Amino acid sequence: MAVKFSLLLPLLLFFSVISAQTNEDPTTRTMEEFSGYPSEPHSCISDSLSLSVDKDSLQKQIDELSTFSDTPAPSVTRILYSDKDVIGRRYIKNIMGLSGLSIREDAVGNIFGRWEGSEAELPPVATGSHVDAIPYSGKYDGVVGVLGALEAINALKRSGFKPKRSLEVIMFTSEEPTRFGISCLGSRLMAGSEPLVRALKETVDGQNISFFDAARSAGYSKDQEDLSSVFMKKGSYSAFVELHIEQGPILEDEGVSIGIVTAIAAPASIKVDFEGNGGHAGAVLMPSRNDAGLAAAELALAVEKHVLDSGSVDTVGTVGILELHPGAINSIPSKSHLEIDTRDIDEKRRNTVIERIHQSAIAIAKNRRVKLSDFKIVNQDPPALSDKAVIKAMEFASQQLNLSHKLMISRAYHDSLFMARISPMGMIFIPCYKGYSHKPEEYSSIEDIANGVKVLAMTMAKLSLD
Ligand SMILES: [Zn+2]
Repeated sequence: MAVKFSLLLPLLLFFSVISAQTNEDPTTRTMEEFSGYPSEPHSCISDSLSLSVDKDSLQKQIDELSTFSDTPAPSVTRILYSDKDVIGRRYIKNIMGLSGLSIREDAVGNIFGRWEGSEAELPPVATGSHVDAIPYSGKYDGVVGVLGALEAINALKRSGFKPKRSLEVIMFTSEEPTRFGISCLGSRLMAGSEPLVRALKETVDGQNISFFDAARSAGYSKDQEDLSSVFMKKGSYSAFVELHIEQGPILEDEGVSIGIVTAIAAPASIKVDFEGNGGHAGAVLMPSRNDAGLAAAELALAVEKHVLDSGSVDTVGTVGILELHPGAINSIPSKSHLEIDTRDIDEKRRNTVIERIHQSAIAIAKNRRVKLSDFKIVNQDPPALSDKAVIKAMEFASQQLNLSHKLMISRAYHDSLFMARISPMGMIFIPCYKGYSHKPEEYSSIEDIANGVKVLAMTMAKLSLD
């Protein structure tokens, strides 16, 4: 298994000369035939795997996909089951077809493109991400993990690699919660979420269009009973690896090419409502007040305190929404509404923070004589750890490609969080400009993307032979 890197370069050069001179279909030949070097089957991937990424065509595809948007360039807005989303889906399926993959779609529009391996009965190795985009976002989030994955397949095909386990590229439906308020809808369902199946029966968007009507308009889910057909059994895949932009500044700041994700932090969201009596800002004296706004302000500070008290930098909490009613300068707030997001890679620690926030909300309501009219934990997903063997394969690939890499955690969550419920999981991060994401300035250089594509390709190649 150990590979001398000094051997690699002559081999790569030799291989590229050979491949440039032949017109034969490279996919019909084995790597050993290509290189002319004897090689142990299934053991020395990197000795013989020469990966070239077609950067021009990949960049062109990323640019082209970004034009299917409901807002003008450079922003991208592509909302689930909208016309632009449907065109984007068609575009992805077309590229899957050009890569020679066999295509399947499930009832909610998760799209699968499979390259059949020599032992097609074994669970495949999967990769993938999403192409939906929140309003006024950028063109790389998710897209790099779909178009990049397809280019990884192309690069493997060009190199003459032959997978043992099948390789599958997945485009997940609705990673972003924009339309129906449900994030990672496609992967969550694939992972077998019964509560989600039930919730979707009543889910409507901001225009009061039901999930099923929206899905039908995009050509999916004709039969409302068939949502459990989306479920996949644990073990359906031997591994799942997602390529994604970091969406944070660490890799760029440190000049590191590849981030190998060891864990994905998971969010919990909480909605809180306080109610007081309100009243005239001049007439009601301070001792007689029960100000719902001040209760909310106190709770916001309590959130910060409990998060900091956890003692870990990995615990974070945010009050992203704080609304006061009636919202007039001369009126004591009679109602307040907070939405709190708290995340951690340690589920127990995060849940302790939630419990303390709850205790504070009760105490604050009591002290301020307001009513805690609602304290609702909207979702509370468990974090996920990457699989050790997948981490090893990603590290091995980075080493063989001579790319600097570091282990890190993902503070944003991704479809991988849910895929981890049914498959050993790993994620590959690439640098992005200033860590920007979810805005038009989002950017990754094609060189950084190509590095990620190569690491993904080699990781999948290795896992496919395991
Ligand atoms: Zn994403």
